[in-house]
Amino acid sequence: MRYPEYVAKIIERLESLGFEAYIVGGSVRDMVIGKDPNDFDVTTSALPEQTLAAFSDYRTIPTGLKHGTVTVLSDGNPIEITTFRIDGEYLDSRRPESVEFTDDITADLSRRDFTVNAMAYNHARGFIDPFGGKRDIANRLIRAVGEPHRRFGEDALRIMRAFRFSAQLGFEIDADTLAAAGELTPKLANIARERIGVEFIKLICSARPEYPIELMRELGLFEYVTNGYVPSAETVRALSAPPAVERVRLGIFMSECDSERAGEILHGLRVSNKLLSNTKNIAKNCAARLSGTETDARRFIGSCGELTEDVLAAARALGRLDAEFESYVRENLAKKVCTDSKGLAINGSHLIKLGIKGRDVGEILARLLEHVLEYPEDNDTEKLTALAKNLSEKM
Ligand code: ATP
Ligand code: MG
Repeated sequence: MRYPEYVAKIIERLESLGFEAYIVGGSVRDMVIGKDPNDFDVTTSALPEQTLAAFSDYRTIPTGLKHGTVTVLSDGNPIEITTFRIDGEYLDSRRPESVEFTDDITADLSRRDFTVNAMAYNHARGFIDPFGGKRDIANRLIRAVGEPHRRFGEDALRIMRAFRFSAQLGFEIDADTLAAAGELTPKLANIARERIGVEFIKLICSARPEYPIELMRELGLFEYVTNGYVPSAETVRALSAPPAVERVRLGIFMSECDSERAGEILHGLRVSNKLLSNTKNIAKNCAARLSGTETDARRFIGSCGELTEDVLAAARALGRLDAEFESYVRENLAKKVCTDSKGLAINGSHLIKLGIKGRDVGEILARLLEHVLEYPEDNDTEKLTALAKNLSEKM
């Protein structure tokens, strides 16, 4: 196993000063699996001040000195270096009150959540794997480090993380770990909503969300995630088909509840306002089968706007996209025809100049749009002016 040179430099510097230093956590897990890690975290016996001193010729950022973390910029790559630590007392199943530093790598690994995340490695010393992380990777298992009941009791977010890693890695959850997760589910009520939201969104944007979602449904976990809402198994099966774009995956997930409830649930997950409104739009537009005439296709583009491709992807995943309708949508997108009032060759001030007043302006614009959706070739200022005059005479 080889990590990049910019990581090796950091580890070798610390080791040459008499400290121990390893890559740890997700980066070791991903390398064992054969995936490229997102980032490399380093763990060391050096105290934070000693780490800062060791890299005085590097750019360093004292990211979380209290928790023992220093970030070092190595050839432009930020690397978090954290001192070996043992977590202090946990209150209310949340983050520990205090941390204690140690010079024992095994003690540091023992505070970590799952065996697959509790390995350390460096080129000189090889693997430190006291809990059988490699074996569990080979068996494709998520297993708590130590006694699962105690570990979920300390920090209930780990329950969500178990399902999230199961989804991302396509691993099963070990039976004892799963049983403990089920028993301690109510402890999720103590966890900050946004942390639950982050884990859940990572879960549904993963390669294999179906199995963990099914388990979560059986354990009643959705009560603490989505106020109890879960779509049908058929909709859950559609989740992994489209690209892992948050609004698309969430849109599919929310497609079986009405807009108001969807808004409440998404707010409960603490997503941004933009993600909330995009998700609601996608959910609403992919809820029923997409089919119809060319005119319907233009109306559909008008109502989806910049979310058109996302709605198509969601509807396709759900098996609700009629092939002919899709080709109508694509032809009209390619021709860039008018699909909403902004695209009309005439606007409100044109109408006012023609002497049209008050509520009639909006009414006539709406009728012109209906006309143009049916006859795109009529989207021409002269033609629409004549039509507007005609309509206003009849009003
Ligand atoms: P990702 O690829 O999603 O970043 P990761 O394994 O790096 O996965 P992080 O949330 O970044 O996950 O956490 C880094 C490491 O810290 C984990 O691998 C694990 O060892 C440890 N860890 C993180 N959160 C917890 C927790 N709640 N309880 C115990 N250990 C944790
Ligand atoms: Mg990480």
